[in-house]
Amino acid sequence: MKYVTKTAFAMLVCLLFAFSVNNEAEASGAVYFKVVKEELPFYSNETGKLEQKGTLLKDMVLKAERSYGANWYEIKVGGQMRYVAKYGTVVSTSGPSFTQGKTASKVALNVEASVLENVNGKLVPVGRLAKGEQVESASLPSANWFVISFAGKKGYIYKTNVTSLPMPRDVVNPYQNYSYEQMVKDIQTLKMIYPDLIDYKTIGRSVDGRDIYAVKIGKGKVEMTGNGSHHAREHITTNLVMEMLDQYALAYHNNTNISSYSVRKQLNAVTMWFVPMVNPDGVTLVQKGHRSAKNPSYVVKLNNGSTNFNAWKANIRGVDLNRQYPANWANIVGDPGRPGPRNYKGPSAFSEPETQAMRDFTRSHRFESEFAFHSSGQILYWHYKQTGALLSESIMLAKKISRMTGYQMVPAKSNPSGGGYTDWFIEEFKRPGFTPEVSPYVGDRPVPISNFNDIWRQNKAIMLMVADHVS
Ligand SMILES: [Zn+2]
Repeated sequence: MKYVTKTAFAMLVCLLFAFSVNNEAEASGAVYFKVVKEELPFYSNETGKLEQKGTLLKDMVLKAERSYGANWYEIKVGGQMRYVAKYGTVVSTSGPSFTQGKTASKVALNVEASVLENVNGKLVPVGRLAKGEQVESASLPSANWFVISFAGKKGYIYKTNVTSLPMPRDVVNPYQNYSYEQMVKDIQTLKMIYPDLIDYKTIGRSVDGRDIYAVKIGKGKVEMTGNGSHHAREHITTNLVMEMLDQYALAYHNNTNISSYSVRKQLNAVTMWFVPMVNPDGVTLVQKGHRSAKNPSYVVKLNNGSTNFNAWKANIRGVDLNRQYPANWANIVGDPGRPGPRNYKGPSAFSEPETQAMRDFTRSHRFESEFAFHSSGQILYWHYKQTGALLSESIMLAKKISRMTGYQMVPAKSNPSGGGYTDWFIEEFKRPGFTPEVSPYVGDRPVPISNFNDIWRQNKAIMLMVADHVS
């Protein structure tokens, strides 16, 4: 009895001691530890799922940035936060404190490779990095070595074991008439810079044979979508969508916020799929004129003989792509009945390859919400006949979007004219969809680039806000 009590007391003291050490470690930041297991794995914890990224070797005395909960240490490996279980360690009173400065280069491991340290001129392994692991360094790779911080030690990796990756940077310049060719180039660059965050596919081809791109950003299971440039002259919406991709990727990498939203948190929970330019032929026609079309004389004829395409909204054969979706398509108001610069709904719903691509793409995912960006007028469409819980949810989100953007909610109508992507999305999938008309009203022409600053400020966080709601 006495013995048991004594043991219990000793355990209590131990617990209290451990508790106080933890508290102290969390308060003062860094803590040192010695590895007592043969091979102690360390992990990433980005999506709430532990993924092994390498191992620490026995007897190494290393530095943790801090205690992470009761059972883990947070360590820094090549600029990345990694986690190691305390059970394989004992606390040490002192340890190494090499830290790396501002990132100058980034590499991926070609193979599982050792990290070495220089002990009196001899290279000794301190741990290993998994194949595919991406690490950053303050220095450029030298002739033979890539140098990283490895849990407080200065670690060397043979250069033959790594491949240089392009550095994260601002890629998209939205302060220009943003062309289809520039978009394709930027999408490819973004994927090259952020291979685990960004991917793309083509979802179909336009009438004139241009590939229609869908770009994915994020790691979450929940999906959302956004698109721009259904309407040709509204091509500033492509600038907006591409700038979202660019700035979200950069903020994810730097772990910074946009408005009050942690981009990393949102994009670990949600994957966003963007179609930045639904109507590439139409956009190119507005930007570069009729000679950009496969059949230049036909588009001039559709444009009533004029070569000024500033007011053009349709695809290259004169069908308005946002009057193509089967939401009460039969009764669309104001249809001119024949191809032209705008408003012609086409011979049937989904008659055009661009809307067919959007239909198949949208049906092949489970999008919790969508944004179709248009211009202009600073108003927000959010309603298409929805009722009940979907109506309440739509109103709640629309009010938040309206508050963030300053755009006025278009009043709900009992019998709205349909045919739009958002109308169809709400009707077919029974989930909230939104059509913001960006920029103050500018009439029948493209929005001047000088309006982009305000457009960006107003719209940069609305998809993050909805992501936070649907995840
Ligand atoms: Zn539009």
